[in-house]
Amino acid sequence: MIKIALIGNPNVGKSTLFNELTGMHQHTGNWTGKTVGSAVGYKKYKGEIIEFYDLPGTYSLIPHSEEEKVTSDFVLNEEYDMALVVCDPLCLERNLNLVIQTLEVTKNVIVCINLLDEAKKKKVDIDLDKLSTYLGVKVVGISARKREGIDELLDTILSYPQSSFNFEYEEKIEECINIIYEHTSSRFEAIKTIIEGKSDNPIIQEKLIQIRQYLTEFNINFNDSVMNGVMSECEKINKSVVKRNTLKNKLNLDKILTNKLTGIPIMIIMLMIIFWISIVGANYPSDFLFDIFTKLGDFLKNLCININIPKFIYLPLLDGVYKVLTWVVSVMLPPMAIFFPLFTLLEDFGIIPRIAFNLDGHFEKNGTCGKQALTMCMGIGCNAVGVTGARIIDSKRERLIAILTNTFIPCNGRFPTLIIMFTMFFSITSNSILNTTINVLLLTLVILIAVFITFITSKILSKTILKGKNSFFILELPPYRKPQILKVLVRSLIDRTLKILGRAIVVAAPTGLIIWLLTNITIGNSNIITIMSNFLNDFGFILGLDGVILTAFILGFPANEIVLPIIIMAYLSSNTMMDINDIYLIKNLFVTNGWTITTAICMIIFIIFHFPCSTTLLTIYKETKSIKWTLLSFFLPLIIGIVLCMLVNFIFGIII
Ligand code: GDP
Repeated sequence: MIKIALIGNPNVGKSTLFNELTGMHQHTGNWTGKTVGSAVGYKKYKGEIIEFYDLPGTYSLIPHSEEEKVTSDFVLNEEYDMALVVCDPLCLERNLNLVIQTLEVTKNVIVCINLLDEAKKKKVDIDLDKLSTYLGVKVVGISARKREGIDELLDTILSYPQSSFNFEYEEKIEECINIIYEHTSSRFEAIKTIIEGKSDNPIIQEKLIQIRQYLTEFNINFNDSVMNGVMSECEKINKSVVKRNTLKNKLNLDKILTNKLTGIPIMIIMLMIIFWISIVGANYPSDFLFDIFTKLGDFLKNLCININIPKFIYLPLLDGVYKVLTWVVSVMLPPMAIFFPLFTLLEDFGIIPRIAFNLDGHFEKNGTCGKQALTMCMGIGCNAVGVTGARIIDSKRERLIAILTNTFIPCNGRFPTLIIMFTMFFSITSNSILNTTINVLLLTLVILIAVFITFITSKILSKTILKGKNSFFILELPPYRKPQILKVLVRSLIDRTLKILGRAIVVAAPTGLIIWLLTNITIGNSNIITIMSNFLNDFGFILGLDGVILTAFILGFPANEIVLPIIIMAYLSSNTMMDINDIYLIKNLFVTNGWTITTAICMIIFIIFHFPCSTTLLTIYKETKSIKWTLLSFFLPLIIGIVLCMLVNFIFGIII
């Protein structure tokens, strides 16, 4: 068996190659931090078993983050037969730094230049033979995504190549390295020890003191000299083997997408376009599903009556479970099924890291880091995912801020609910295109307000309970890549839409039953839900809401998707049954129950700012392992929501 360490800078196609080699499925993403920990896979080739360790992407073996440390520890301390360094030909110079560092650690190295198809498209030529001669190692060119060059790579692995690379730093630096190298397993280990300036070994400690004095005498900064040595070597090799035939003035997308003036407006417009397509596209399947479910519901009810099934069996099932379940499927599924693939396409194209880049300065001003923008984007999918995603933030302080504020971003369970609210109360024209535009503008406005409040809260947290310095991080802007449309469709449908919908359905079915019971079991003259609502009414009115709405949010704790159906069923319990599938009938129902424009606005605020759903809260506990932070994440949005609702209710009370 041959054991291979697969290493490389982030985004060079390492995971793609790993999947190609081992056939193991792994999610490939466009920003750093997707591959946490190392995955292992096997390939049988010409009678040999080759074992691959897919390590987190890293720029250097001197780690700057937890993930880089995983790779560095593996490369320096584990036993393996060969290191396979995957490189991107379009930024070879930066990649060569890692190649040279690896060559200092082990002589069994293969350099694999991936993405050759992309290089060819961009008219960048790499002289692989020359590169091989320079480095004294085998260099294999591949296009992992197109499965080109894989066999040649495997054959090269079987030939156990040895490198003959000898890199020399300036004389005094070499002297220092050699003093320590006697006591370490690799030259690189020696270099790292001198840079870090510490060791557990007393002999090395003594030598380090000697070296320090020696270097001070000659006024040499070891770290800078090593870096400069490697960098100028990388530059020299890069100049000699890479030939760019690209036209200079070709449109550079980053000039406008990450430009200070145009970057953020373009991102907002993109978001609006996605919302627009999702809302318009969702209307048709939504109506279609409504129709089918209503007809099927009627049919089932008649069937139950005809075959004499007792009322106490079919009513809870059809008016409870079935109604809530079909509501969730027909209202939530269509916008999700359209929004997610579009969002994933942007992700695959490389837009999301640019959003983080554009917002980095703003986050920094508010005491946190740009990676929080990435976790917020994940939060649009599902806040629980956003909370887990905060692992990409290395500083504990900044990670906690990202976790505590993630639920401010309306997740998929909430944004279809928001759209319904807008349609009911703000679609004032009879023109459907205009109505959709109003919805899109309002939804974007809501997201912007949520982002704004995230900034303010982050700032307050970073000045009070989560004080500390801003961390430094390298946010890589990967090259734009043509998304793989089919893969994106499958991935977003299976990975996201179905999983999240599955969870909502699992919650919706029992909740439907519970709600039916609460609305049909009476104590005295009132049903239970009315008793609960009456109890909460006074507090609800202060917030511009009512007891039913608050009850719905409490019962909707397992999943936000079911808040509206609960409100509808609770109001209906004092009326005769009606069709809950018509949005205008629902509006009438709400208005008859005392809703005004103030109620609608306060409801919208409360949809965004209340407590996290049970799954998110559990995830927060798992991630922070602290009751204190979990409780804070529960109360923080709730208090913001209560204060904002009270304020709006008060102001509107004066104006209207
Ligand atoms: P990692 O961060 O190094 O694991 O990189 P990934 O495997 O996630 O790949 C980053 C992006 O590069 C993905 O969008 C891949 O589809 C794309 N990619 C990987 N290999 C190739 C290739 O050979 N050609 C092209 N055109 N794209 C590739």
